[in-house]
Amino acid sequence: MTTSVTDTVRLDLGPRSYDILVGDGVLADAGPRIAAVTRGRAPIVVTDENVAPLHLPTLERTLRETGVEPTQAIVLPAGEKTKDFAHFERLMDAILERGIERSAVLLALGGGVIGDITGFAAASALRGIDFIQVPTTLLSQVDSSVGGKTGINSRHGKNLIGAFHQPKLVIADTATLDTLPRREVLAGYAEVVKYGLIRLPDFFAWLEQNGPRVVAGDSDARRYAVTASCRAKADIVGVDERESGDRALLNLGHTFGHALEAATGFGARLLHGEAVSIGMVLAFDLSVRLGLCPAADADRARAHLAGVGLPVRPTDVPGVEWDVDGLILSMAKDKKVKDGRITFVLVRGLGDAFTLRDVEPAQVRALLEDAVS
Ligand code: NAD
Ligand code: MG
Repeated sequence: MTTSVTDTVRLDLGPRSYDILVGDGVLADAGPRIAAVTRGRAPIVVTDENVAPLHLPTLERTLRETGVEPTQAIVLPAGEKTKDFAHFERLMDAILERGIERSAVLLALGGGVIGDITGFAAASALRGIDFIQVPTTLLSQVDSSVGGKTGINSRHGKNLIGAFHQPKLVIADTATLDTLPRREVLAGYAEVVKYGLIRLPDFFAWLEQNGPRVVAGDSDARRYAVTASCRAKADIVGVDERESGDRALLNLGHTFGHALEAATGFGARLLHGEAVSIGMVLAFDLSVRLGLCPAADADRARAHLAGVGLPVRPTDVPGVEWDVDGLILSMAKDKKVKDGRITFVLVRGLGDAFTLRDVEPAQVRALLEDAVS
């Protein structure tokens, strides 16, 4: 396949700056860009069992066309359980077995799970080697592959072990999304909507018109949505790499969402993006209750998310008995809690998010009581 249009988003971080290439079919021609990072050598490719048969051949073909003979890829099991100590140890052993030097380059081919564990392996191997992200889920293309957060889970919680380690290059090929299950596409789409809701009202309005085309896989709409999302994240990370300010806005819907995910066991009952969709609607509703945001804006956010097929209320999740005390407890354990107080990302309207620390616990409880009944 030949690439029709490739957009390039630059994440500016001084010596750690890098390009994010976005396009329909961009991976098929990416060999020279990859070889420029690896200085003509083969990257150590890490992928998962679902992605390997689907997209590894495209990567290997373009490497060969560039004169780089690929080495055998490291193929991990698919799914969130792979982001644990046991798999991290296995991955590190597989990497070190190759007798690598500091100049070795890892390449993560897959969703956020593969990107996060591979990025953390790159941060750890020989105290830090380069890596390339080739995200193959919508969520990883618009969110996890950009910004340098890497890591694994522990039994104490998700993503509690990790490092900031920026990739050298991100290749987001929207054609890889053709094989992604629709439910996963929708979950990633929730994070796309998030960028509109936090600070891009015009992008949100564009999504209201074009969201269904993005979800259905229209090539131009998909490229535009991924590019705009990466640009939004790159702009935020470029000024706040380590989340001491604006980067926290990216957590819109995530404090509520995380509690919902914890209650459902972080599994297939409720995907992360689905939880974020419900969480963003709760954040809008809370903002309305606090007199901060017009109800009409909350209605538009909810209507758009529901319109594309995302859940917008806890009661949209089949077969779950929600326990408000449990939700509040897990919100209080969120890693964004500071001095025992939860930081909420709230909104003044569509595209205007901000953080607030002193929300009355009773208000939050009342909101949740209403939302689960
Ligand atoms: P995932 O990596 O588990 O991928 C979802 C499923 O889709 C998996 O079964 C995978 O094998 C499959 N898959 C991947 N690409 C495919 C394709 N093109 N065709 C068919 N199937 C494909 O999950 P995800 O949603 O991509 O990422 C979730 C992870 O990302 C979580 O662990 C989360 O913590 C992390 N995350 C990290 C950041 C960050 O900043 N580092 C941000 C957001 C999320
Ligand atoms: Mg998220």
